[in-house]
Amino acid sequence: RRNIAVMTSGGDAPGMNANVRAVVRAAIFRGCKAFAIMEGYEGLVRGGPDYIKEMTWHDVRGYLSEGGTNIGTARCKEFRERPGRLLGCKHLIEAGIDALIVCGGDGSLTGADLFRAEWPSLIQELKDNGDITAQQYDTYKHLNICGTVGSIDNDMATTDATIGAYSSLDRICKAIDYIDATANSHSRAFVVEVMGRHCGWLALMAGIATSSDYILIPEKPSSSKGWQDQMCTIVGKHRAEGKRKTIVIVAEGAITSDLIPITANEVKDVLVERLGLDTRVTTLGHVQRGGTAVAYDRMLATLQGVEAVKAVLEVTPDTPSPLIAIEENKIVRKPLVEAVKITKSVAAAIESKDFERAMSLRDSEFVE
Ligand code: ADP
Repeated sequence: RRNIAVMTSGGDAPGMNANVRAVVRAAIFRGCKAFAIMEGYEGLVRGGPDYIKEMTWHDVRGYLSEGGTNIGTARCKEFRERPGRLLGCKHLIEAGIDALIVCGGDGSLTGADLFRAEWPSLIQELKDNGDITAQQYDTYKHLNICGTVGSIDNDMATTDATIGAYSSLDRICKAIDYIDATANSHSRAFVVEVMGRHCGWLALMAGIATSSDYILIPEKPSSSKGWQDQMCTIVGKHRAEGKRKTIVIVAEGAITSDLIPITANEVKDVLVERLGLDTRVTTLGHVQRGGTAVAYDRMLATLQGVEAVKAVLEVTPDTPSPLIAIEENKIVRKPLVEAVKITKSVAAAIESKDFERAMSLRDSEFVE
């Protein structure tokens, strides 16, 4: 029997609530107590009953479909430094919590991994300072921690889908369907900027799902001249074939092979100047995060929440902390430390312009 806490952290994503609901109910079902840490790591650093709340079965009623995260999320600078994590350690022990499930993006899970790795020295420091008793030290020697990936960007290595990505994709496709009508009526071109940070998954999948004319993503950069020529050739051909509308999707992280950001306005200027198209820019912004979770995210978040509870009950001090992933339609456990490591390697490969390595890292299992 454990006291299991769940938190949501980093950017909100539809399905986070469903994940919290599943963790709370699976924990109670297994005879454990469930807690919510409010406002992500901020709640850990602040501690106390306002930030660490016991949750009942009924507290999460209605959470399954709701977008965003009802237990709050925040970006917390203090948790990035050891003194902040020391406070987090103290507050968890004070609340009697011995297992933590973090639903968040790569940043949040990096923080979780660091917290886990540092835990023995944090708890030792608390004991040496007299902040915890010898008995508490023995009871909480090992923190069972587990990650589930909540992010609309679908940018975490070792999982095929992150909680929220399909809801966001659905929002984007619906918005582009709306834009389609006006584009078609006025024979206009629209440049649509979508979210995804350094990952082009949302842009690429939305492009396929809406049959857009051209897609710019960070993973397949070319020179400035390269993309401009290619886009104009393709769009020009579609227009010559009688297509009345043009949709170009730009991922927010789109870059040239010199790592220079490609903006939606720049794409618009090219379409206006080189093809003479009446062109508008639509930045979808936070609409992409809003609304209810699609069925896939409800299902993914629920199955992963249940698995996360099972995992924290089974993990021993010798097994690595797990990340709950989905791989080829199966809910699986992956070592959290490796998922974080690969995700960081992808970012490093992009920064050093090694795009092929970035792509192969994202696609492959981690091989040291
Ligand atoms: P996401 O989880 O969506 O990627 P962030 O990158 O903003 O979002 O991370 C969310 C929070 O996780 C941060 O505000 C911080 O509290 C914590 N965090 C992120 N990176 C680290 C890190 N390297 N060390 C400790 N905590 C971190």
